[in-house]
Amino acid sequence: MIKKITIFIILVISAIALNTVRSPRKETKNPLFSEERVLLGTFVKVISPSDKAAEIAFREIERIEGLLSKYKPESEVYRLNKTGKIKASPETFFIIKRAKEFYALSNGAFDITLGPLVDLWGFTEKNYRVPHKKDLNKALNLVGSDKIILREEDNVIQFLLPGMKIDLGAIAKGYAVDCAIEKLKKAGIKDCLINAGGQVYCLGKNYSKPWRVSIRNPGGGKKNNILELRDKAVSTSGIYEQNFIKESTVYGHIINPKTGMPVENSLLSVTIVTGNSLDADALSTAIFILGGKTKALTAAFKDTQAIIIKKIR
Ligand code: AMP
Ligand code: MG
Repeated sequence: MIKKITIFIILVISAIALNTVRSPRKETKNPLFSEERVLLGTFVKVISPSDKAAEIAFREIERIEGLLSKYKPESEVYRLNKTGKIKASPETFFIIKRAKEFYALSNGAFDITLGPLVDLWGFTEKNYRVPHKKDLNKALNLVGSDKIILREEDNVIQFLLPGMKIDLGAIAKGYAVDCAIEKLKKAGIKDCLINAGGQVYCLGKNYSKPWRVSIRNPGGGKKNNILELRDKAVSTSGIYEQNFIKESTVYGHIINPKTGMPVENSLLSVTIVTGNSLDADALSTAIFILGGKTKALTAAFKDTQAIIIKKIR
């Protein structure tokens, strides 16, 4: 349950971004190894006092990408989208089950079945366009996570309607980061920061200090919001990075599954700080769609903070 929700309203006039901040490098005394790779369609950065951490984390994130990517023909999600029915690995089954839980908790605002809508708006192929109303209505008929059947006995996942497609863009990165953190712990690595395109997990500490994560606030001329964290996940959702502009209207990549339209509200971003990356990822997207209203989700998570950044009106 989100027991403790802290909401800061910060006004900014332009885009914000989530960034990791490193303490000034003391190369010889406290060396940090930092590596970056493109995985899950984004930049993944691993920072650790251990020179083994990056390779372990990248290998695990790559493995999860191999299951959940909608672009890779060998992935389980690709096959599900193509055939409408698969016998899944326990991991794919688990993540789709959790996604359905977020669908229920958010009253349908968080919905992984909006694949046909994401395609229609051109976000899948980065070939953006404003769809015709009749195409939107057709795609909307295929949306609804209640139309995904999960058979616990044998991990079969089945769509109720032909043409349905899932898109795990709002939850897969968080899950992949959690899996990577588990692998690091098993390998005896106690301290590491992973940033997978805005999904951050701070494992342990940066030598004797907590990891520092900054929610950048460049346009406002105000100080960045610096979080000092240990064993915590941070996720930011907003439409300031992935969007397109047509006739002076900004269309973002987060879509309202009820209307089929990109979400347009008073928010620039929602940042969630909680105990694991999967929850942080799903919650930040869901609360962004709900316009910052956390009430629908407050019953389900504990020790969770929401940092809401609003546009200047
Ligand atoms: P995030 O950056 O984690 O907030 O996730 C945004 C991504 O999630 C988008 O690029 C889509 O792939 C997907 N998405 C968009 N709208 C929704 C929604 N209403 N529910 C679930 N996933 C969504
Ligand atoms: Mg998300």
